[in-house]
Amino acid sequence: MAALENYRQKRKFSITPEPEGKMARKGKELVFVVQHHFSKREHYDFRLEIGGVLKSWAVPKEPPTEAGIRRLAVSVEDHPYEYKDFEGTIPEGQYGAGTVEIWDKGKYELIEKTDKKLVVNLLGKKLKGSYTLLLFKLPKNWLLFKNSEALD
Ligand code: MN
Repeated sequence: MAALENYRQKRKFSITPEPEGKMARKGKELVFVVQHHFSKREHYDFRLEIGGVLKSWAVPKEPPTEAGIRRLAVSVEDHPYEYKDFEGTIPEGQYGAGTVEIWDKGKYELIEKTDKKLVVNLLGKKLKGSYTLLLFKLPKNWLLFKNSEALD
């Protein structure tokens, strides 16, 4: 899958426990995951299943559980669908070396999608409800925030 070339080029699958991305996705429901990544710079990886892969953003601070907080979300390479289940330790010297823990995960609904804006309804344990991702600075700086209930 061409979408995963960037992902694969960064990694040595003989060394890292991360998935190579060979499994076809199952089911109709879309999934999202947020992984807490304790790498050199601790951050959260926010991933939405879109088009069979996980579109991914690195979020330096904890994703907001309430409206009124905006977080920088830097677009990174697509990850394979199986990555939604990945937890473990990426060995020293490998890309993203450090420990990955699933912080939240669940189904989601895609409400709106353009090149610059995504609106999703997240059905996680920590992240619940309507969220927006907004491209505010090319090429890859997005804002992630929870929408206030009054907006619908
Ligand atoms: Mn990461």
